[in-house]
Parts: sequence; C-alpha cells; structure tokens
Amino acid sequence: MHASFPVDVDLALVGGGGAASLVLAALDRHGVTGLRVAVVDPVHKRGQDRTWAFWGLPGDDLDPLLSASWSQVDVVTPAARRVLSLDPLRYGMLRSAPVYDRAAEAERRLDAVRISAPAGELRDDGERVTVRDPDGRDLVRAGWVLDSRPRRPRRPGRTSWLQHFRGWWLTADRPTFDPQRAVLMDFRTPQPQRGVSFGYVLPVDDRFALVEYTEFGPELLDDAGYDAALRGYADLLGLDLTALRVREVENGVIPMTDGPFESRPSPRVVRLGTAGGATRPSTGFTFSAMLRQADQVALALAAGRPPVPAPAYPGRHLWMDAVALRALDRGHVGGVEFFERLFDRNPPERVLRFLDGVTSPAEDLAVMRSSPLLPMTGAVLGDAAGRLRARLRR
Ligand SMILES: Cc1cc2nc3c(=O)[nH]c(=O)nc-3n(C[C@H](O)[C@H](O)[C@H](O)COP(=O)(O)OP(=O)(O)OC[C@H]3O[C@@H](n4cnc5c(N)ncnc54)[C@H](O)[C@@H]3O)c2cc1C
Repeated sequence: MHASFPVDVDLALVGGGGAASLVLAALDRHGVTGLRVAVVDPVHKRGQDRTWAFWGLPGDDLDPLLSASWSQVDVVTPAARRVLSLDPLRYGMLRSAPVYDRAAEAERRLDAVRISAPAGELRDDGERVTVRDPDGRDLVRAGWVLDSRPRRPRRPGRTSWLQHFRGWWLTADRPTFDPQRAVLMDFRTPQPQRGVSFGYVLPVDDRFALVEYTEFGPELLDDAGYDAALRGYADLLGLDLTALRVREVENGVIPMTDGPFESRPSPRVVRLGTAGGATRPSTGFTFSAMLRQADQVALALAAGRPPVPAPAYPGRHLWMDAVALRALDRGHVGGVEFFERLFDRNPPERVLRFLDGVTSPAEDLAVMRSSPLLPMTGAVLGDAAGRLRARLRR
C-alpha cells in the first residue's frame, strides 16, 4: 500500500483487469507522459487467467503479443462446413499473460501508483473524484476515474442470458491439430432446450490448442456438465483424449443482456469494460470494443481532452441485439438457424464488423435482411411492447 493517502493523481483506474490493461498499454503507445496515474485493484493481474479471441486488422502493437492468428476460420453446422476468408481482417488469440505484462511495463513507464486495495464509493464533486475504500477511507483524489469494476446493469434486462463456457488447453506428443485451421463456431454440439451451444478450436501449433465448449442461454451447467460437453465435443473432433493432456482449464461467464450499462454515472467517472457496456449483448464479445475505447481514451488524454470514449456500440446495434436475444429466448428462431443465416447470407467481413459494432446503417440493413423475417418481426413487436410496459411502470 502507498504511504500517504489520499494519493493525488490526474487519472485513476479503478479495476485493473482487461479494460484497464488496454488503457495502460494505449497510454504508452500514444506516448502520453507527465500524467499522474493510479491503479486501484485488490488483485494485481498476472499470468494466464483468460484467453481473448478477437478479429481486427493486422499491424497494430498487439501483433507481437498474439499467440496465434488466422486469416480464415471455419463455421460448422450439421449441414455444412464453411471456410470463411477473413481478408483483410485476421482472427487473433491473445493469452492474458502478455497483455498483463504489457500493462505492467506501461505502468512502470508512466510511474503509476499501484494501490492493492478494493475501492468502494466514488465521490464526484464535478472537479475531482474521491475514491474511497469500503470502510470510507479516502484512497485517491483524481481528476478523472475510469471504473471497470464488475457490476450489474442499471436495471435487469428484458432478456438476460449468459455466455458460459469451459475450455481445455490440450497438449499432444505428436502432431494432432492443424495450426492453419481455427474453428470460430461449431454448432454440431447437442443443442440445449433453451439457448445455443457450440464448440471451437484455436490451435497454437500442431501439438497445443484451446478446445472450448460454449453455451448462450439462461442457465449455467454444473462442473460435470461442462466436462461431459467438452468430452462430447472432443469426440466430435475425433480427438483421442487418452493421448492428450489437459494443461490448463479456462472457465468463464459473460453477461448477454439488453439491460443498460451506464457508461458515465457522474461527470468525471467513466465506466469501461463489461461494466461500461463493452460486452456485445448478442455474442458476449468484448475485447474489440475495449481495445477501441482504450485507444480513444489515450488519444483524448494525449490531446489534453477529457478521457471519454464514444459509446461501445451504436444504439441501433443494441436494439438489434435486444430483438435477437428476445427472438432466441422466446424460441421464435433457433440459434443454429440464426447464426447459419448470418454467415450464409453475408460476406464474413460484414458479419464480423457488425459483431464489433462498426458497420454502417446500410450494412446493418443487409444484416437484418438476412435474418428470418417473420419470427424477427414478432420479436421486434414483443420488444416494443416490453419497452412500452417498462416505460409505463416507470
Ligand atoms: C475466461 C474468459 C475469457 C474471455 N474471452 C473473451 C474473448 O475471447 N473475447 C472477448 O471479446 N471477450 C472475452 N471475455 C470477456 C471480456 O473480454 C473479459 O471478461 C474482460 O476481461 C473484461 O474486462 P473488464 O476490465 O471489464 O473486467 P475484468 O478483466 O474482469 O477486470 C475487472 C477488475 O476489477 C477488479 N475489481 C473487482 N472489484 C474491485 C474493487 N472493489 N475495487 C477495485 N478493483 C476491483 C478485479 O480484480 C478485476 O481486476 C472473456 C472473459 C472471460 C472471463
């Protein structure tokens, strides 16, 4: 802990996980100097606790940190295997350890103060923000706070699902995986009664790969359920588990909800990461939005402007996601059918850019036209009625 509290800084990062690590790296990348920074988190993130898969243009400063990247990926359904060429994008895999290391290096260069304690209340008087600990002691006074502590949406969503998954990092003694072939989504897994399931494979080389089982749906599985699902998926892939070792296990739960995440709760507090709405409701993908917002924050600070990024996703995308979630949840449309049509009727680049929230309104219309029209219209009407009911209750 730092000797004299409260520490006076220009910028406090409250929460030092994924979003904050990307902000620190971006501050370094954009050559921000002379900024007094504090990071408040009871945990100093290090090592491997998650793997980020995301797409984007090659050639940024994350490239040297990638464990692997692919210019084509497979999307598999019981009916067909599609090989999607991603050019000019690439699908990349980042293990968390190099990202946390990169953030630590940036922290050192910025001479940031690290406070290994939980933050409690944030008091914003419009000029400065006081970060308190849970017992009410002042830890930091900051010009701006970027808060990425996990939190629930401001009110429960009309549809609240979870993306939940377990992955095994598998090692083999002989060539087993094809490092050129990543599987983005493989829907041949048995489908749950409510929700969608798929497996995927991200090979680092021919003897080391992440094989993961994922569900989008309202309920988590138990431990045995994830293991059984993963064993089933490994069977589908023709992998002989007796000849492989599970080197690491990766578990995760990510919210998929149309509940609103507040990104600016007070004048000088900005929420980032999942807490700030960076998780795409229809897919759980978060990384690209966090990266984009980190860059915007750093560019703004480098130019002496307030570190307030653009919203993670345009409002129309959040509405489309609310409709899609509703259609899936109410069973108006099947999950496999939904994703199958999305990938069959759009160029891959358009789908991926849409999922990242960076498509134009014209491209969005094309994406909407590819979805099953009648059931989606039902979901649109249901969503409108839900909004109206919520407004009348308020
Ligand atoms: C296993 C896993 C795999 C994922 N894979 C992908 C992927 O492939 N692609 C993708 O797009 N997204 C993925 N995600 C989703 C998302 O990208 C990550 O969850 C990401 O880490 C979110 O960043 P964050 O900063 O919002 O939250 P976190 O990284 O969870 O950071 C939150 C931080 O807040 C700290 N904190 C908590 N309470 C306090 C407190 N009181 N005071 C101060 N600090 C506090 C925590 O210690 C933590 O360090 C994955 C998530 C998980 C869990």
